[in-house]
Formats: sequence, structure tokens, C-alpha cells
Amino acid sequence: MGTHMEIEHTGAHDPRTVADEANAALEAARAALDTPPAADVPAMVLLVDDQAIVAEAVRQALAGEDGIDFHYCAKAEEAMKAVIYTRPTVILQDLVMPGVDGLTLVKAYRSTPATRDVPIIVLSAKEEPVIKSAAFAAGANDYLVKLPDRIELVARVRYHSRSFVNLLQRDEAYRALRQSQQQLLEANLELRRLTHSDGLTGLSNRRYLDEYLAAEWRRCAREQTQMSLLMIDVDNFKQYNDTYGHVAGDEVLKRIAATVEGCLGRPGDIAARYGGEEFLVALPGTSAGGGKLLAEKIRREIAALALPHRNSSAAQHVTVSIGGATTVPAPGSAMTSLIESADRALYEAKRRGRNCVVMHADAAENEEV
Ligand code: GH3
Ligand code: MG
Ligand code: MG
Repeated sequence: MGTHMEIEHTGAHDPRTVADEANAALEAARAALDTPPAADVPAMVLLVDDQAIVAEAVRQALAGEDGIDFHYCAKAEEAMKAVIYTRPTVILQDLVMPGVDGLTLVKAYRSTPATRDVPIIVLSAKEEPVIKSAAFAAGANDYLVKLPDRIELVARVRYHSRSFVNLLQRDEAYRALRQSQQQLLEANLELRRLTHSDGLTGLSNRRYLDEYLAAEWRRCAREQTQMSLLMIDVDNFKQYNDTYGHVAGDEVLKRIAATVEGCLGRPGDIAARYGGEEFLVALPGTSAGGGKLLAEKIRREIAALALPHRNSSAAQHVTVSIGGATTVPAPGSAMTSLIESADRALYEAKRRGRNCVVMHADAAENEEV
């Protein structure tokens, strides 16, 4: 078996990159969630009222306040557009307006996704329980009688703005958290794929094969069904590298891997890179006869790739030798004997001149199919 093994880790496929990105996103989301709610946030007030005198009074009340911006909309028909455009942190909404009723507007803000959560303080001409309860029922958050006291108005504007901004921040943090969870999920899948696969050929690697084989071996022992193994080795591959170079050699290994993989039909079949230029195919539930047919197919298809190999002792092109073995695992037995039997069959195939298949019918004896 060759000792030269190249694992490619580049760019997005580097497991560290994949994990780092997901972790960074998670950290950012955590930090956002851990940030205490802001105590003082800039407020943007939008007054919707047809009376200019009310607008002037509110403007004056807010004028000397730090961090409070003021916008004014006099027409009910333009209110929705103004809300979407100015993005207020609180709406002061007059109840009685010509054209559209204030309560209708409150309901409209509530049923529009872009304005759904903006706090609404209803400005009413009078302190009237029936009107008040209608306003709250429509979706208002607060109720003030015109013209409100300056201190009270400022306090409520600040309070509602703060809770709205905090709500937005929390929503954003949760969105980031969901996104980073999704990234982590994908990173884990990618990591699993990477730890299970061979960097050069993309086939399963030895580590995954060992896990998989152990489980399938136990299953075959339990169900007393056959297990076949094929050991595939590239013929005169050292010569190939010496003649065409290692990079070309790597390409050959990729082509062979893809060809082997393409020959497998059943869901339980698995092909793995076993070592440098050796591949192992495991065929749970497959007889020696079936294994031999498949081995022949693999051998033929690799030869049919017609990859030139002028210094091969077996042919003018790249070929493989395949040794196979089959057994019904005895309960509690180790599978090393089956692997060794396939290895002996491979040795025999090499001895017979390469580019051929030798299949042992039972792991214990070297009896051929
Ligand atoms: P045989 O027909 O008896 O199998 O002869 P061989 O030359 O194929 O066998 P040997 O075990 O002497 O040499 C295997 C060669 O495979 C040696 C090594 O350079 C090459 N090899 C192993 N892994 C890799 C790899 O990942 N890439 C490349 N390019 N070559 C590899
Ligand atoms: Mg070898
Ligand atoms: Mg070889």
C-alpha cells in the first residue's frame, strides 16, 4: 500500500473556516442579546393632526428636548405614507379629523406590517371613557387629552420610544440568533461530511469505513447474511507517478474513485479510499458470485477509461487488480480475517499478472469462486 496521502483543505471547505464563521455569527447574536436595553434612545415623533395650533403647541413642548425629533402630518389621507417615510418611534394621533376617522387610522397602522409595532398615543379632545376604551380597543398604547402638559408629554414620548427601540433591537438579535443557528447546523453537516470523506477523491475515508463496516458486520452476523469485500489496487502506480508526475497521479486516483463509486448500485454498498492507491468496496448482503461480477465490472470500466500508462507491465493504460472475499460473519467474530482474505486474493491477482480479479468464496479458506 502506498504511503502518500494528500488531503485537500481549501477555502470554504476548510472545517476551521466553516466552524469559525458559524461561531462568529453566534457570538454576535449572543452579544446583541446580552446588551442591556438602551436607557436613552433618540425619539422620532410624528404628529397626525389637522389643527395647526395643536401642531405648534406640541412642537414647542418638544422643542427644548434633547434627542427628540418632530414631524407633523396635517392630512389623514397622507398619514400612512408619512409613518412609513419618517419611521417614527411614536405616533401622536388625533382622533377627530376631516375625512378619515382617527380610530380607522390607528387600526390601519396596526394591520400594516411596516407600522404594526409603532407605539401610538391617541390625542383626544376630551377625557371620555367610551372614546378612551374605543381607542385602546383599536390598538392605541396611550391616551392624552389635548393639549397635554409638557412634562407628561415628554415623559410618555420617551417611554414609548424607548420600549419600541428596545423591541426592534431584540427582534434583530433574535433574527441574528436564528440565522447563526442555521449556519451552525450547516457547519455541523459540512464538518461531518469532511471528517467522513477523503480529501482527494471525495470517497468515504478509512475512518468512516471502519465505523460503517463494524456496524454492517454486526448486522450481517445477526441476520446471518453474506458480506463481500473488494480490495482494489492500481497496477504499477509507482511507475505511473514516476512517468507522468504526482499531479497526474492524483487525477488518476480521482477518476478511478468516481468510476468505482459509479459501479455501486445498492444503498448499503460503500466505496472508500483505503490507503494511497488502494480502495475498498464493502457489499453487505452480497454473495461471492455477485461480488465477483461487480469486481469485473469495476475492472473493465477502469480499463475502459483508457488512461495512458506506457510503463505498466499489465497494459498500455491504467488498470487495477481486485481481490475479493466473502463470508457469513460468525456472531462475535472479528472482520479482520475477511479483510486479510481479500488482501490475499489481491496479492494473488497481482501474481497472476495484474488487471484481473480473484475472489475468495470464504474468508477461512482460499477457495476461489
Ligand atoms: P502494484 O502493481 O504492485 O500495485 O505496483 P504499485 O507501483 O502500484 O505499488 P506500490 O505499492 O509499490 O506503489 C504505490 C504507489 O502509489 C506509490 C505512491 O507513489 C503512489 N501513491 C500512493 N498514494 C498516492 C497519492 O495520493 N497520489 C499519488 N499521485 N500517488 C500515490
Ligand atoms: Mg498498493
Ligand atoms: Mg498498486
